[in-house]
Amino acid sequence: MTDFTMSTDADGVATIVWDTKGKSMNVMTLDAWDELEALVDQALAEDAIKGVIITSGKPGSFAGGMDLKVIAKMKEMAGDNPAKGLFDGIMNAHRIMRKIERAGMDPKTNKGGKPFVAALPGTALGIGLEIPLSCHRIIAADNPKAKIGLPEIMVGIFPGAGGTTRLSRKLGAMAASPLLLEGKLNDPQKAKAAGVIDEVVPAEDLLSAAKAWVLSEPNIVKPWDEKGYKMPGGAPYHPAGFMTFVGASAMVNGKTQGVYPAAKALLSAVYEGALVPFDTALKIEARWFTNVLMNPSSSAMIRSLFVNKEALEKGANRPEAADQKVTKVGVIGAGMMGAGIALVSALAGIEVVLIDNTQEAADKGKAYTTAHLDKGIARKKVTQEKKDAVLGLINATTDYDALKGCDLIIEAVFEDVGVKAEVTQKVQAVTGPDCIFATNTSTLPITELAKAAVDPANFIGIHFFSPVDKMLLVEIIKGKKTGDVAVAKALDYVRQIKKTPIVVNDARFFYANRCIIPYINEGIRMVKEGVEPALIENAAKLVGMPLGPLQLVDETSVDLGVKIAKATKAAMGDAYPDGEVDEVLFWMFDQGRLGRKSNAGFYAYDDSGKRLGLWEGLAAQYPVADDQPDLTLVQHRLLFAQVLEAVRALEEGVLEDIREGDVGAILGWGFAPWAGGPFSWLDMIGAPYAAERCDQLAQEVGARFTTPALLREMADKGQDFYKRFGPDAQAA
Ligand code: NAD
Repeated sequence: MTDFTMSTDADGVATIVWDTKGKSMNVMTLDAWDELEALVDQALAEDAIKGVIITSGKPGSFAGGMDLKVIAKMKEMAGDNPAKGLFDGIMNAHRIMRKIERAGMDPKTNKGGKPFVAALPGTALGIGLEIPLSCHRIIAADNPKAKIGLPEIMVGIFPGAGGTTRLSRKLGAMAASPLLLEGKLNDPQKAKAAGVIDEVVPAEDLLSAAKAWVLSEPNIVKPWDEKGYKMPGGAPYHPAGFMTFVGASAMVNGKTQGVYPAAKALLSAVYEGALVPFDTALKIEARWFTNVLMNPSSSAMIRSLFVNKEALEKGANRPEAADQKVTKVGVIGAGMMGAGIALVSALAGIEVVLIDNTQEAADKGKAYTTAHLDKGIARKKVTQEKKDAVLGLINATTDYDALKGCDLIIEAVFEDVGVKAEVTQKVQAVTGPDCIFATNTSTLPITELAKAAVDPANFIGIHFFSPVDKMLLVEIIKGKKTGDVAVAKALDYVRQIKKTPIVVNDARFFYANRCIIPYINEGIRMVKEGVEPALIENAAKLVGMPLGPLQLVDETSVDLGVKIAKATKAAMGDAYPDGEVDEVLFWMFDQGRLGRKSNAGFYAYDDSGKRLGLWEGLAAQYPVADDQPDLTLVQHRLLFAQVLEAVRALEEGVLEDIREGDVGAILGWGFAPWAGGPFSWLDMIGAPYAAERCDQLAQEVGARFTTPALLREMADKGQDFYKRFGPDAQAA
């Protein structure tokens, strides 16, 4: 046995210990189910065994859930008829847990049976809570760091091993909904208060409390196996229950815009399951779970948001180089970005020298960290000692000599080649040429900026997104001469500050901005054409973009758009394609409507800055046309504008790994997460259809949609991106 073992004590209490070999936390695999069932059978068969404790051999945790790598591949592994294979596999898990729950009781009288208690030393997530929910009691150690809950919805699936049916019957649909629909996790005390678990005891008493309960001859019949069971809070046909389901359904559709299949399926499983006996409800749950696993969205989300994100964080693309852990970082420029970079570095325990032109500006940058920590103190998430320690790591100064001993410099001064070159030289006069120098530029070519460095091999781009403390992605950009140590340094630093890195080559706007600018431009272009602005914004949201393109311009500011447009036009000359966009953008700029920061933009705002709705004045300048395009056309224009840029970035070698293209798109600019990223989306719709659609768009809308050669070739050969460029293909 590699996962579960059982021993029985002199009092006849058996203890099944879950201890997955070679893992720091237990995860469920397909084989481990068989082991668990064999032990449950043995415990039920042996007369000497009076009851069973199921616990974990890992200190501080019970189990982290199902192995996500397995879930991502379950469909592929399910045989020729995957839906049937998946359904049968799920029903097998239900059967084993139902065996625990019924524990040998007489099916008619509910007499007999042996008590099963789950004893949780700590964290119990996903299936790690669904197994305990099938036991007759759940006792947890009083471990405030432990997280207990069903987070499946966060990865694009839902609790499909009985968690949905059991929790909604245990708590009622209303009380279960934040736990199921939002994947809310609780520490043991809060989990008990919410009714998810039954008892919390000091860690050292966990097993003795469990044993005492087993020997107490408890009633082990689950409420839903008793005659006359009623769902707490009312079943759907009860007036109170009816209200819950109407509200939950509206909330789910409002939040997901209908593009996340899992939330709807979950709600259907709860609703339909509530109308029938428990075993039928499990079957319904299994059918909906199969439906979700069959939807390509769930495997694409798991692949990008977990499997590949984790691989990138662990250094999938890190060159061979010694450990480059950063102990002292110099941040030059204490403005919006520099202040955020100082904050995340100090929070990671790195010593920070924060430099600006004046002491006042440097202090202002440090004050950002103070304000962040004060907020944490107000929310009881940060202690005064922690605040003192973090602030103690930041030296805000104008003195470049303080940079001595830094092993990484990140420059976030004005976006100006001259200013950046001067800073690079001034810094290197103190640090010497070997200290890795990074620029946080968002638009300037790294290869050009590297010319100011003594050794361009030690010069690199580390591109943060704003606000630095909230955005999870960091784009690392290699200039033509950037060396391996610089890349390793940047990756090790990003790992220290717990963000997700992608590594790309140097080209205009790198990767993320390159894809997001065409999205914004396509939205503005449609305004010029007379497309109803509300149609543009809603089309974007209905396809899973977090912000419509017009709202996004307001957030990032119209003047930034104007600045980027002017610089791009200067660089591209006659080839510049966005004159029509600029007409609208420059007009907005002339009206002083700069976006959220001026409380006026494509949207109207009230005095407190609250967004009210689309600005009506836009229609006077750009009248809405009588004929409006259909929703799908608007959506395809907005999606293909981004996706084709991603394909071109791959084609041109800016992107070296499509995993980075997908993960970077979701984390960097919120590209429709349900799709798993631009390349996953293309695989979903298929290269032949994508190329055909682009051909139509190129003809009807504009040449910017011309099918890139790579996509054309893949369409002709019937290839898909992950099969051709994914890690398995690379390894083969
Ligand atoms: P900002 O204007 O808020 O801050 C720049 C700071 O640099 C100012 O405090 C300024 O006093 C200081 N500074 C200027 N010259 C200096 C010098 N010679 N020595 C020391 N300090 C100097 O700008 P920001 O938004 O923080 O942007 C900084 C950099 O980050 C730019 O290159 C920008 O393109 C890039 N960036 C910005 C964003 C964003 O969303 N704002 C996102 C990614 C990257």
